[in-house]
Formats: sequence, structure tokens, C-alpha cells
Amino acid sequence: MKNEKPIAIIGAGLAGLTAANFLHEKRVPFVLFEAGKKIAGLTASFKDDEGFSYDFGAHFITNRLADAIGVGDECLTVKHYGEQVYLGGKYYSYPFGLVKIPRMTLSGIKAKLSGGGKPNSCAEWFRAAYGAALADEVALPLIEAWSGAKAEKLSPAVGESLPGSIGKTLYLKAASRVTGRAVAVGYNREMPEKASVYHVYPEKGVATLCEKLASGFEDQIKLESPIEEIIVENERVVAVKSKGELTEVSAVVSTAPANILAKLVKGTNQLDKFSKFNYRPMIFVNMKFDGRGLLPDTVLWFPENNFPFFRLTEATLSMPWLAPEGKTIITVDIGCERGDEFWEMDEDKLTELCLENLTKIVPDAREKFLGAKVLKTPIAYPKFLSEYETERKDFEKSTGIENLLSIGRNGEFAHIFMEDVYWRTRRKIGELIERS
Ligand SMILES: Cc1cc2nc3c(=O)[nH]c(=O)nc-3n(C[C@H](O)[C@H](O)[C@H](O)COP(=O)(O)OP(=O)(O)OC[C@H]3O[C@@H](n4cnc5c(N)ncnc54)[C@H](O)[C@@H]3O)c2cc1C
Repeated sequence: MKNEKPIAIIGAGLAGLTAANFLHEKRVPFVLFEAGKKIAGLTASFKDDEGFSYDFGAHFITNRLADAIGVGDECLTVKHYGEQVYLGGKYYSYPFGLVKIPRMTLSGIKAKLSGGGKPNSCAEWFRAAYGAALADEVALPLIEAWSGAKAEKLSPAVGESLPGSIGKTLYLKAASRVTGRAVAVGYNREMPEKASVYHVYPEKGVATLCEKLASGFEDQIKLESPIEEIIVENERVVAVKSKGELTEVSAVVSTAPANILAKLVKGTNQLDKFSKFNYRPMIFVNMKFDGRGLLPDTVLWFPENNFPFFRLTEATLSMPWLAPEGKTIITVDIGCERGDEFWEMDEDKLTELCLENLTKIVPDAREKFLGAKVLKTPIAYPKFLSEYETERKDFEKSTGIENLLSIGRNGEFAHIFMEDVYWRTRRKIGELIERS
């Protein structure tokens, strides 16, 4: 590395800390700016006085990621992970139960035999890949609830970005049963999915990953220091501004949401087109109950649009240590838009809404209820709308500024899990150092 000005990293979540850790390893100067009071970003864990833990969503990581970061010894093995779909008042296990429904299997076979042309939307992609029955009754309603957009308006990339085939999923699920470990399915694209890669959870919470990555350079992390501007001259980043102060830099690695990054950059219009990217806001209502096993499996999906939520997760069925013995926690996922009735609803009303609907699944939910904690995020999932698919593909290749990288989940505008964030970030930072 010829240039001795530091690289500025924006954000101390998993991506920013992986980048900083890699630069630290290679002895490349850097400075890490974090807007919040703490490191960890989305991987922050919360534990209340009664001993219940919750993350932003339930977080499953892999043994391969834990080992790579060096916290493998501090992790507990997840022995079971299962998903079910609630359809027509019945539970179907995913994927075995669904593929046993004759109309799903038949329409899947029909789709395979007919081949079909190049899909133009997410809806066409799913009908061609899984058959109309599975697509229209299960996959597409869930994608619409999750993204807040009609499947016809979403790009085929939503389907293309899913790792693994049905065959591979069935094999990995079967491997879970044989090994007695929750083999990771659908969590990796950068590295192969295999029977020896399974879920684990750090004893002290998922933020352990970030704490380990940050060890040795804590003094280079500037907390409560939001980046306000990224200054570009002659199509190269030259400085960043935080709290009104300029720092000259050799490059910038941003983990801020892609549409926000576009607005931070000054002195070029290269990124203007990315400012229209949209993320789906989400509300997570973490509900505490007496008893355990209130749901039939860890995750329960609701594709029929007859509940205000599309997913319930009883994470203690996979990770019993997340609640005191004999108690449990159910996370309710509600898709919303900023300013809509759900977003504006206060915590008590949201909790009551969830409780009222939960009693249709768990009749004695109200009697067992112990309390709730509501978390809201305006940027849970990137929306792959067809209307900006060309720009999204451009952004996948580059920000348009050679020494400005955008990495991480919201930074890449990609629905990626932690292991992919880790490997991709290391690869991209390696390439940045090479060309600097
Ligand atoms: C509901 C949900 C469930 C998930 N479940 C799983 C799971 O089970 N397993 C899994 O592997 N992954 C899961 N993920 C994904 C995982 O949480 C993310 O991939 C990962 O945490 C992303 O890390 P990041 O560093 O890219 O982003 P973030 O964690 O969002 O970090 C970005 C950081 O940048 C900071 N920042 C933003 N703007 C600025 C600025 N201008 N200046 C300074 N700082 C700034 C923010 O404060 C934040 O700390 C889930 C995600 C969600 C939303």
C-alpha cells in the first residue's frame, strides 16, 4: 500500500469490523467511524433483568464463521432448527411436508417439464422454479409480505439470489436429522453449504463476534461519530467529514445503507441513481411466555395474509439458553412502511394486536403472557424492485468511484447473512489494498 493516509470505514457492525480487522492484520492505517454509542450494529443482543435474550431478529450463525473469527470455543451447538408453514388451518413442515402435498408436487413437475423462457419478474421466476401451486400459495405471498411489493414488480434476482436447489435443501435437512445438528440451509453463497457447516450461538450473545473482531484496535474506533459527508474530487474520494471535522483519507469503505451513501457523497453525481433504492421496514415484537414449545417448530410461516404477521419464531426451540428454564420467547415479524398504521402504533397496541392473533394459534397465549419488547428498524430488507434493476446490477459491480467501496448487508443492498458478509468483505478489502 503506497498511500499512507488512512482508509475511513463507516460503521462498526459486522462488515465494518471485519474490514477493520483485515486492515489491522495487514498493517494498513484506518479509522473507523460509528454513528451509534456501541459497536455491533444489527448484531447487538439485548438481555433483560429476567434473563430473556433477544437480537434484531433471531440470529443463527455458523460454526465456520465462529471458527474463522476465533470464537468457536465460546459457542453452543444448535441441535435442531425446523420450519413449518401454516396453510388452510394445518401445519406443514418445510420442505418435506410441502412436497408431499400432491398438487404442489404435480405443479412442480409440470413447471420443470415445460422449461419456460427467461423470467421477467420474481413471480415468473418462482412459478418456473417451483411450480404455480407452491409459488402462488406459499412462496410469493411470503415474499410480498416480506418485501412490501407485488411479486410482479420485483426482479427475478429475488429468486436467483436464493442459495441451493430443492434437492440440496432436502439433502441438508436430512443431514441435520442424521447428525443431530442444525445444518445451515440457505445461509451461505460465498462458501459451500455442506453437512459439516451447522448453526451455533455464542454463549454471551451474537455481539461476541463483533467484540472479538474489534479486539486490538479499540482506540481506532470513533463512537458517536456519524459521517456527514464523503468528499470526492476528480472522481476520487479525498476526505470525510464527521462532527464538522474533515479527515483526509486514501479510500472509504462504507457499510451505511446504499441510498444513504448516495446522499453522503459530495463532488460527483456518480451515485445519484442509487439514492432511489428502497428498504423494507420491519417491526419485531418479542413476546415472553410461561412454558415452552408453544409453536410446532422454531419458525412458523403464514402465507395466507390472514394475520398481521408473516412469521413467528420461537428461537428457544433451537437455542434453549435464550430464556430462563420453563419459559420462552416468540418473535413476531410485522412488515410495514414508515408512517403506516403499524409503524405508528404504540408498543401496548402492537402487543395487544399480536396477542389477539396469537391466541388463534396458541389458545392460552394470553394466560401465559409475561411481557413484550418491541424493536423497529426502517431498513430490515433490501427491496429488489424491477424499476431499478439496471442500477442495482451496476451497484453490484461498483459504486462508480474507484476508491469508494460499499460493503455489508445494507451497504451492498443485498439480503446476505453474516457469513457471506464476512467472506465478501475480506475479499473486497483485499482487492482494494491491491489496487491502492
Ligand atoms: C431480521 C433480521 C434477521 C437476521 N437474521 C440473521 C441470521 O439469523 N443469521 C445471519 O447470519 N444474519 C442474519 N441477519 C443479517 C445480519 O444481521 C447482517 O448481515 C449483518 O449484521 C450486517 O452487518 P453490517 O455491518 O453490514 O450492517 P449493520 O449491522 O447494519 O452495521 C452498520 C453500522 O453502520 C453504522 N452507520 C450507518 N450510517 C453511518 C454513518 N453515516 N456514519 C457512521 N456510522 C454509520 C450503523 O450505526 C451500524 O452500526 C439478519 C438480519 C435481519 C434484519
